[in-house]
Amino acid sequence: MNTPQAALTDAVKQQGDCADFSRRLVQRMAWLVLTALLTATGALAADPPKRTVRVGVYENAPKLFLGDRGQPSGILGDVLMAVAERERWQVVAVPCEWQACLNALGRGEIDLMPDVAYNEQRAQLFDFHDVPALLSWSQLYTRKSEPIRTITDLQGKRIAIIDGSVQAPFLENLLNGFAISPTWVHADSFEQGFGQVRQGNADVVAASRFFGDLQASRFDLEPTAVVFLPAQLYYATTKGQNGVLLAAIDRHLKPWQAQSDSPYAQALKRWLQAAPEFVIPRTLWWLLAGLVAALVLALALSTWLRRQVAQKTAHVRAGEERLNTILNSVDAFIYIKDLELRYQYVNSRVAHLFGRSAEQVVGQTDSAFFDELTVARLRANDLRVIEHGERVEEEEVNRSVDGRVTQSFLSVKLPLRDSAGHVYALCGISTDMTRRKQAEEAIHQLAFYDPLTGLPNRRLLQDRVQQLLTSLSRAPQHAALMFLDVDNFKDINDTLGHDVGDELLHQIAERMRECVRTQDTLARQGGDEFVVMLVNLSTEPGEAARQAQQVARKLLDRLSQKYQLRGQTCRTSVSIGVALIDNPAETREELFKQADMAMYQAKVAGRNTLRFFNPDMQAQVVARTTLEADLRWALAHDEFVLYYQPQVNDQGQTLGFEALLRWQHPMRGLILPGEFIAVAESSGLIVALGDWVLRSTCLQLQAFSQQAAQHHWTIAVNVSAAQFRQPSFVARVQTMLLQTGANAARLELELTESQLVEDVPDVMAKMDALRDLGVRLSLDDFGTGYSSLAILRRLPLHQLKVDQAFVRDMLEHPQNVSIIRAIVSLGDSLGLAVIAEGVESAAQRDALLTLGCRYFQGYLFGKPTPAPEAASSSADSAQTG
Ligand code: C2E
Ligand code: MG
Ligand code: MG
Repeated sequence: MNTPQAALTDAVKQQGDCADFSRRLVQRMAWLVLTALLTATGALAADPPKRTVRVGVYENAPKLFLGDRGQPSGILGDVLMAVAERERWQVVAVPCEWQACLNALGRGEIDLMPDVAYNEQRAQLFDFHDVPALLSWSQLYTRKSEPIRTITDLQGKRIAIIDGSVQAPFLENLLNGFAISPTWVHADSFEQGFGQVRQGNADVVAASRFFGDLQASRFDLEPTAVVFLPAQLYYATTKGQNGVLLAAIDRHLKPWQAQSDSPYAQALKRWLQAAPEFVIPRTLWWLLAGLVAALVLALALSTWLRRQVAQKTAHVRAGEERLNTILNSVDAFIYIKDLELRYQYVNSRVAHLFGRSAEQVVGQTDSAFFDELTVARLRANDLRVIEHGERVEEEEVNRSVDGRVTQSFLSVKLPLRDSAGHVYALCGISTDMTRRKQAEEAIHQLAFYDPLTGLPNRRLLQDRVQQLLTSLSRAPQHAALMFLDVDNFKDINDTLGHDVGDELLHQIAERMRECVRTQDTLARQGGDEFVVMLVNLSTEPGEAARQAQQVARKLLDRLSQKYQLRGQTCRTSVSIGVALIDNPAETREELFKQADMAMYQAKVAGRNTLRFFNPDMQAQVVARTTLEADLRWALAHDEFVLYYQPQVNDQGQTLGFEALLRWQHPMRGLILPGEFIAVAESSGLIVALGDWVLRSTCLQLQAFSQQAAQHHWTIAVNVSAAQFRQPSFVARVQTMLLQTGANAARLELELTESQLVEDVPDVMAKMDALRDLGVRLSLDDFGTGYSSLAILRRLPLHQLKVDQAFVRDMLEHPQNVSIIRAIVSLGDSLGLAVIAEGVESAAQRDALLTLGCRYFQGYLFGKPTPAPEAASSSADSAQTG
């Protein structure tokens, strides 16, 4: 036990073993007593000691511990003994625990205590000499492979620390100051702590440098750069009592610390074998002082920084909250996606859209919210931003993952770049366009589609036909334009009401859809007219015509089947006109005209049929155009004449005439109105022509009024629909009457049933105005239309004219007799006169008389003649016979 190394090992080993320690303490006490005796004996022979110095000795190898002979030993013990020897002090070692030693020193029960670190608090209680006896500090030690360079390297490390050691609270505070939170591994001794690190249970161990420097290599550890808790160690004495002792220590210590072979140097060499010669160089003091200052500064700086960080954090947080409030209140979807297209940030609108909280959305990709197709499209846009740094502005139509919700967005996506210019994320701002899109679609629908049937309207149809014609020049093909007109639609509309009429059109459109291919265009041209544009027909004209005919037949067949219209079963049919399209030089207008012509032909042919526009029809078109020009000429050159057909009563007396228009054509001779009235109407010439008829009639009436036998005669004038529709019609009649001086009461205007139902309020107003003028109104060709009784009752009519079709066959078809009877009784009930026209035989007249009809017109009484002639004698004989 006499090598310092062994002593130290032994002492350290003994620290945890109380029983063994007590036993050794007793041995040492025995040594003490023996030494005291020997000293006392020796003293008798040598110089007597100057004084006895009681020295408190506690176990803190290698600085201080009780030597084998009971003397203070270790670095500070040996140095003290060397001073004592020079000063002839008799040293009495008093073993004690650290705190007990200090207490004893305070009370003056011992004189001196080595190994006391100076601090101001202790300076109140004890006296210290001037020259520090030893410099000590604590240090961290770690395995050689894991160097710790700065204190910040300790983040997350496991630090072995001795319970109750000075290092424990200090290090904890220090690390707290740096906001470092290590894992503490508790040990009972430095030895155990070093063992923990070697075994890998801890990463570093805190120890005093005296223990560490000596023992680190044994545990394969090495000191780290982290040094803390520096302390200068002194010998302390009881306050105010041992200045002499302290002065003596200073006196020896000062030169010894400067000498390499002094007792001081030898003590260091002896107890710190591994350590370099321990001379405390001034530079080290300065270094350590600097370290302490730096540490203090670092702590202060850390506190200041933490406060600054706290302030800045609060500031940033406030700013962030403000920004969040703004981002969450704008009417846009704002989000940030990282390079893997995962959401990193979403504002509340996005969260609401996805039906999750913002936290739940963050970290997800689009596939959690949208269907596959949408995800693929979004990804393509996102990658343009992420990979190419593009600013993408796209309309995105997104469908929810369950496919139930589809929304349109206008999305602007921007790359977010770091300070080096690398894209690290994308920021997206999307605006919901769904409503706008819907509104646009609705506007488009209104502009190009018929609201009733949902079919393309006339405008869209014209566009498509134009496109087709344009494409024909590039890629020759056959196509066809079909005009369909519902037969008698007007009658259905008038009798069953407009709602039912609408329903019929709707159902017709539906059925038509079934008959055409998707590439064909189906349109509603207006009213009861539909158009079909068939494309991609055979390139062979005959075959193309056959294909078109097939479709048309299908349509005829399907559309003539029964309809269920609001509980009523109804039938109708269509007339179809077809124009083949194969000539790019043709204009759209020509094509429409051709199909229209063909449709008209189909109507003429008896309806529910189809007609092609062919060269014959073309000839008719030419003829019609020529006729129009001729009519203008005729009007300008007075080629029209009026024929008068007498109207008689049941006595055969002539009451008046119907004025019937004739065209005295210089080449073709006399032309009947059936040949030109329709063209006059469609060309608008009817207005001028009608004026001419009215004026001529009024002049004739004026002429009648001059003759006593004729002044009561009336003249009936046919008024065409186009003529009657003129807003100035009533005024024209009035002007004619005034200009000619004709008696209005002798003028009768013949209107047809179809004229009455078009714009009822306007018609009624005009009729009332005419009646007010004194003009009589007669309903021509009555029985063929569908006049509503309700309307008839309200009209200021004077007479119903039974259509000659009923009279013609009345003797063969008892049905017609019933109809005529019904008309007569209707006239009676409404207080209207009833006249039968087209009466050709006496038998017809008699039968009519039997039915109660009192007025007649027909060849039996007189054919239309250029000069009004009273009813012929044959009529009289018929009447008498
Ligand atoms: P409407 O007003 O029904 O005229 C009666 C037509 O029946 C006349 O034919 C007349 O000649 C014919 N008619 C008269 N009695 C008999 C008969 O016993 N047997 C047969 N088979 N026919 C008879 P028209 O003159 O050819 O006139 C045809 C239609 O032309 C008229 O039918 C009328 O709707 C229209 N029309 C005639 N003149 C004018 C006119 O000045 N203005 C207008 N807007 N239309 C006219
Ligand atoms: Mg007539
Ligand atoms: Mg008639």
